[in-house]
Amino acid sequence: MSEWNRRDFLRTVSAAIASSVCTRAAERKPNIIIVLADDLGYADVGFQGAKDIPTPNLDRLAASGVRFTSGYVSHPFCSPTRAGLMTGRYQQRFGHENNPKYDPSDAVSGLPVSETTIAQVLRDGGYATGHIGKWHLGAAPHHHPLKRGFSESFGFLGGGHDYFKAQMTPDAKEYVIPIQRDGKPVEEKEYLTDAFSREACAFVRRHAGDPFLLYLAYNAPHTPQQSSEKYLDRFAHITDQKRKLCAAMTSAVDDGVGRLVSTLRELKLESDTLLFFLSDNGGPLHDVNGTRNDPLRGAKGQVYEGGIRVPFIVRWPGRLAAGKTYDRPVISLDIFPTAAAAAGVNLAPALQEKLDGVNLLPHLLGKSSSPPHERLFWRTGGGVLFAVRENRFKLVRIRGASPQLFDLETDIAESNDLAPSRPDLVAKMSANLEAWNRQLIPPLFESPVPPANRAARVSER
Ligand code: CA
Repeated sequence: MSEWNRRDFLRTVSAAIASSVCTRAAERKPNIIIVLADDLGYADVGFQGAKDIPTPNLDRLAASGVRFTSGYVSHPFCSPTRAGLMTGRYQQRFGHENNPKYDPSDAVSGLPVSETTIAQVLRDGGYATGHIGKWHLGAAPHHHPLKRGFSESFGFLGGGHDYFKAQMTPDAKEYVIPIQRDGKPVEEKEYLTDAFSREACAFVRRHAGDPFLLYLAYNAPHTPQQSSEKYLDRFAHITDQKRKLCAAMTSAVDDGVGRLVSTLRELKLESDTLLFFLSDNGGPLHDVNGTRNDPLRGAKGQVYEGGIRVPFIVRWPGRLAAGKTYDRPVISLDIFPTAAAAAGVNLAPALQEKLDGVNLLPHLLGKSSSPPHERLFWRTGGGVLFAVRENRFKLVRIRGASPQLFDLETDIAESNDLAPSRPDLVAKMSANLEAWNRQLIPPLFESPVPPANRAARVSER
C-alpha cells in the first residue's frame, strides 16, 4: 500500500468508526424498568398524600417524572393484572380472569403460551430481559418466566411468599416454596424485599452496556405482614400493628427503589431508562394488611376505584416532563406498547392489532391531544362484576344489583349514584360494555379458595 493510499485507507476507517459511534449513540435503545408493588393502597405513598409513611425515593421518582392521576390496572387482583401487563391485552380475552393455584403439575392455570409477552418482544429486539420477584403467572414448566421471554429470573412462582423463610423440599406449600434463580432453588438469607432490591441492582450492573428490560415485581406489602427490624424501627410511633407493618414493608420497597435509581445514576443510565412504578391492585378490604385507599371507595377484588385505581408513575429523564401529572385515564395495558415504541421495536401487524393498550408517548410528549382511550373496561368472575369508564363517567354493574353511575370528576369517592337520573347514559355505557363483553371468553381456570377462606374470598385474593 502506498503512503497516500495508506493515509486514505486510515481516514476512511476512522470516518467509518466515528460514524458508527455516532449512530450507536443516537440509536441507543432505552432500558425499560417496570417496578410493581403488590396490594399497595392508593393512599400509601407520599406522592399520593400519605402522611404517616414517608417514601422519599418514590416521591423523588414522581417529582422527576409524570404521575398518572387516573392510572388504572386491568384487574382488581394479582394474577390477572400481571397477565394484562405482560401481554398488553385485556386478560379476559384469553381466559386469564382468576389467580392460578400453585401446582407445577397444572398445565392450564397460568398465562396461556399462545399469548406474546413484552419480554418476548424485547428479547427478540436484542434486550436482556430479567424477572425479579413474584411471578404468579403459572407454576408449570411451560409457564416459567424463562419460557415466557425472560433470559434471567430470580424469585418465586406463587402468589405470595414468606419474607424470611422457605422450605427446600419439593412438597413445600405455596408461600414457603424455594426461591429460584433461573429455575434452580437457592437459599436466601436476606429479608425478601431487600433480596429483590439487591438482585435488581446486580441485574442493572450486569447489563449496563446492553439495553435491558427489568421486571421487578415486589410482593410487598402483600401478606404475610412481616418486616425486618430495620424498617419497623422507623415506625415505632405507629400503634396500629397492621398499619405499622404496612408502613415498614412499604418503606423497604421505597429503599429498594432508591437503591435502584442510585445504581442507574452511578452508571449514567438514568436518561436512558424508561421506568414505570405502579401497584397491581388497590389495598385489600377489611384492613387485611393495613393499607388505605382514601379517598376512593372499595378495595382489592372490587371494581370500585379502590380496587383498580393505583399509584402509577412513569419516568424518563430528559425525554418526559418532570414533576407533571397526566389526568386522562391510562391503564397498565399501556405499558407493553409504550415500552415497545420506546425500544423502537416494530410489532408484527397481527400482534399490534390484538393489543388493547396504547403507546402513551405521543400523549405524554404533547404530540397527541386526544385521550389515549375512549373507554376502559373491567370484568371479574366471568361476569360477576363489571365496570366501564368513559370520559368522566363510570358505570358499575354488580350481578343481581341495579347498575350504578358515577361522575368521577366531581365524585372520585363514587358516593352519588347518578343512574336513576341518567338512564340515557346508563343505556349507552351498558351497550358499550356488552359489546366488549361479547369479545371475551369464559375463565380458563378458577382461583384456589380453601374452604376455610371461602367467607373471606373477596378480601383474600
Ligand atoms: Ca396484588
